[in-house]
This record gives sequence, C-alpha cells and structure tokens, in this order.
Amino acid sequence: MNIGVVSLGCAKNLVDTENMLGLLYGAGFKFVSDPYDADILIVNTCGFILPAKQESINAILEMAEYKKHGRCKTLVATGCLIERYREELKKELPEVDIFIGVHEYDKLPALLNSPVQKDCLPRLLLTPPYRAYLRIGDGCSNRCTYCAIPLIRKGLKSVPEKDLIDEAKRLADLGVTELTLIAQDTSGYGRDIYGKPRLIPLLKELDRISGLHWIRVLYTYPDTVNYELLDTLSGGDKLVPYLDMPLQHINDDILRAMNRRGDKRHICSVLDYIRTHYPNFTLRTTMMVGFPSETEAQFAELMQFLRDYPFDRVGCFAYSIEENTAAADMENQIPDKVKQERLDALMRQQQTISLALNQGRIGEECELLIESMDENFSYGRTMRFAPDADGQVLVPRRAFHGTGCYIPIRLTEADCYDMRGESL
Ligand code: SF4
Repeated sequence: MNIGVVSLGCAKNLVDTENMLGLLYGAGFKFVSDPYDADILIVNTCGFILPAKQESINAILEMAEYKKHGRCKTLVATGCLIERYREELKKELPEVDIFIGVHEYDKLPALLNSPVQKDCLPRLLLTPPYRAYLRIGDGCSNRCTYCAIPLIRKGLKSVPEKDLIDEAKRLADLGVTELTLIAQDTSGYGRDIYGKPRLIPLLKELDRISGLHWIRVLYTYPDTVNYELLDTLSGGDKLVPYLDMPLQHINDDILRAMNRRGDKRHICSVLDYIRTHYPNFTLRTTMMVGFPSETEAQFAELMQFLRDYPFDRVGCFAYSIEENTAAADMENQIPDKVKQERLDALMRQQQTISLALNQGRIGEECELLIESMDENFSYGRTMRFAPDADGQVLVPRRAFHGTGCYIPIRLTEADCYDMRGESL
C-alpha cells in the first residue's frame, strides 16, 4: 500500500511525522511523493494560531480531492489541530476517515489494518541526509497566557538523556553532521524527570559524539538562559555560538500579563554578558506585538530595546486570540489595524538592523554548509543561519562543491536576510 504524507507546522511536528513514517515503514507501507499515487493520504496538521489552522484545513480538503480523482481510499488527519478540535472536525470534515491526536501515532498501523511490533524501526528523516532535528522534549509546563500549546501537547515530557545520546549517535552514524535541538522550551529540558534543567550536561555529552559537526539549540526560555549555558555554547567543539531566545516582549508589565518568567533586567544581563564575553554570538528572538493592553509607550519601549540590543534575526507575530487561553478573556484587546501597523513597523526597523549586522560580517572567513547548487551558485548556511528559519549564503559554484559539504568561504556581500561569499 502506498502512503503520501503532508507535514505542516513546526520542526517538532516534523519529528512526529518522521516517527510516524518509521512506524508505517516497519508495517510494510511504501511512500510516494505524488498524492495521486497514494492509497492512503496523511495530513499532519498544526493547530497553533489561526493562519496555521487555516493552512491545515486547506491541506486536508486538497488531499480529499484525491479520493475523487486518485487511488486514495483512506484520508488520515493527525496532529495538533486534531488534538485540539477533534469532535468539531469529525462533524465538519466527513472526507476524513481517521482522526489521530498527537499522543496516538502508535495506533496508526493497526487502524490502517497493518499491525506492527513497536520499536522495530526508528524515525525516517524528512530533512536532507546531512542534518536532523533532535527533539529533546515535548509539551510545555509554562503557561504563557496567549499560548495554546499546553492545551494541545500537555506538560513538559523530557526525553531521557541516554535515549537522546543514543539517537544522536545513530543519526551521526547515518551521516548527519548538523544536529538542531528542539522542544517547546529547550532550556527547561530535564526539569520534569531530573528535578532541574539539564540542558548543559546534555550539550556536553552531545559535543563528544564523533561525526557531528554543528550542534545548535533553538527555543530557549529566558529565565533558564544563564551564564553557564552561554559559556557552554561558546566553549564546545561542535556547539554553535547561536542563541535562539524567544522573548515575546520586553516591557515588564506586558511580560507579567503574558505570564512570562524572566524580566527586562534579567534579559538585559544575559545580552550584556554576551556582548562583553562573546560578541561573535548570533542572536535570534521572537516578539509579539498587539498583546491585550499594549500601549504605544510599551510598543515604543520594545522598538527601543531592539535598537539598543540588536538581534541578527527577529521573528514577529501579531497577537491572535486563541480560545481557552487566559489572554483571550483579557480586556483592552488591540484592534487588528493597530496590530498590523506595529508588526510592519517592527519588521521594517529589523530589516535595517539585520542589514547593518550582516554588513558588519563582510570579510569574515567561516565555513559554509552547502545545501543546494545550480549551474552558477552553491547555496547554503554558515553557523549563523539556522535551518528552515534563517536566510542563506550563496557563493559562485566550484567543481569541488557538493551538498552536505562544509567549505571555507569569505563573506563578501550582505542584504538584510541573505549574504554572498567566495570560496577560499
Ligand atoms: S514557553 Fe510559552 S509560548 Fe512557548 S510553548 Fe510554552 S506556553 Fe507556549
């Protein structure tokens, strides 16, 4: 039986899809890239915010068309959207035959009438063979007032350190050289099973695994980012001096209303430490504008903060009301027009900041991981560019270039998201 899969949402959801494929491959299913050739179509959905939910519904309806015109007999909807709205969707989407939540993937082979022994096959990577995500935990025990993820994924469940080391070694043996650590809150890793955060010892163990070349951490939480973590990230052989620390805001009243731990003073002390000790760090964050009650003055404070503490990369969202979250019932909701104006203003300012920081890197000699090539150029990333999130670097193609290779380059040109370089 042929299976076609659509995987939506974040990298954590992608790992779910990869685990699902491992299970199904072990059950004897084959995978096809053209949905027209699939007997079974699976859509792994995202249920985070409105645009993502809409994209998931559209994908399900699009795949449902193949039940009319293709081989498809069974349409399966899985993932966060299903976990959150299963009963409503069962009524609204009669096209779907099987609904699977985020904690039920192991039931899928049996539901598709092909039982499998558990643990027979590990996940099948959907990333290029030289890179992979390592999901170190699932769920989140923080309770940010705007966020639906704890409603979907429940509380933090860290993966035991030994399992992660074994998984990382297995991936390195498969040829993975770039490993990206993900979870909803990576710096809180281990709090549930070891009683305190254990990201640092985990990183030190991963740093010893031969075959890996770059190890990066995404999605740290401000109040568990401390000097020791920064020293560790900048002191390893393979650990990349890259800090992704979603802040959401900087005004203390807004941070309190968001129920975010780690106030402005703490955040600035972390950034001051980096500026003093590790000016070569790459900084990424995520901000939210238009949170209920956000005043012009609080927004101006956020804009000033991003000028005072320039980040290489800033992702920004306009607050969107998510039912059953605490913020949905808050007064002083901000009009959509104002949210959009603030979002545009912040991203316009950030383009100028990112351009200036990238221009400051011209002349820098570093390594480029080649990810694709055309007849003229090779495209890839240096340590400063996270996979699937940041821009890219292009260099004139040379005969010895190959995807998955690390080559020495010098950076020669910059724009706000991408850069150009030359092979050394
Ligand atoms: S840290 Fe906050 S925003 Fe992130 S997943 Fe957890 S609750 Fe949501």
